[in-house]
Amino acid sequence: MTLFAVDIGGTKIAAGRVTEQGDLDGPVLTTTTPATQGPEAVLDAVAALVRQLDDRGVTAAGVSSAGVIDSSTGTVLGSTTSISGWAGTPLSHHLSQAIGCPVFALGDGHAFALGEAVYGAARSATSLLVLAVGTGVGGSYVRDRKTLTGSHWAGGHFGHLAVPQAEGLLCDCGKVGHLEAIGSGPGMLRWYYRHGGDPRLLDARELFTTADADVTAAHAIDMGAAAVGTAAGGLVNAFDPDVVVIAGGLSQAGPRWEQPLRASFTRTLIPALSGTPLIISETDAWLVLRGAAFYAQTRKDIA
Ligand SMILES: [Zn+2]
Repeated sequence: MTLFAVDIGGTKIAAGRVTEQGDLDGPVLTTTTPATQGPEAVLDAVAALVRQLDDRGVTAAGVSSAGVIDSSTGTVLGSTTSISGWAGTPLSHHLSQAIGCPVFALGDGHAFALGEAVYGAARSATSLLVLAVGTGVGGSYVRDRKTLTGSHWAGGHFGHLAVPQAEGLLCDCGKVGHLEAIGSGPGMLRWYYRHGGDPRLLDARELFTTADADVTAAHAIDMGAAAVGTAAGGLVNAFDPDVVVIAGGLSQAGPRWEQPLRASFTRTLIPALSGTPLIISETDAWLVLRGAAFYAQTRKDIA
């Protein structure tokens, strides 16, 4: 048995074949998301990409998508700023007709966390918290290979936890004081500008290359990392998972980010949970596809 797996992001769509064991089978194809051209154009781009894959032996497709996804109907509930008009799109219905197999859709944070839980560094754990930190902050609590989706399919919006480091800072969601406003790459960069940083720096990555010589850049990284650590510690106090996995683009940034994160994580934990391990994800860019395929496999078995 083989599955198609698709990830629909605000800038990029990726698709590949995944075996029942969770291994990629053949190439992963990518294309640019026509994010400003409306949902029809995005769905057409997905179908065109999937049609380039070998469909032999494929029994279902797992689709991970940006936005809030109602997995019971495969419909996009909440819009995302990254794809215009995405809310209300009947994702699974439309794609199953276009590619000719059952489609099971879920939010990208949930797909990624499932990939970590089933195939990642913490795969032996029964329960885990996954925080993905990059251009945004998301994740999920996963127990027994099921993500906590919540009553409105929006569970896991860890980027919108209130943290003290973000006090007074405006988040992309329109509220004030959320983790993403300081803990994400763009959040750290905005903090850097606000505190007199060099406006020629255009990317959070450049904060790290300049931090040895630029005390404001170093401070921005400390603030962002500490905010993630505070949030992770608070989540552990609330959920008591076996392990915390920090993933996403920033997780590979090295000790300058990891050290203040771990320090604030440890400071936040209650004594009973002080031994909870926090691990940095092994680099695997396609865990989101493998998680989506795993989800489709479990849903297909129930259906
Ligand atoms: Zn927010």
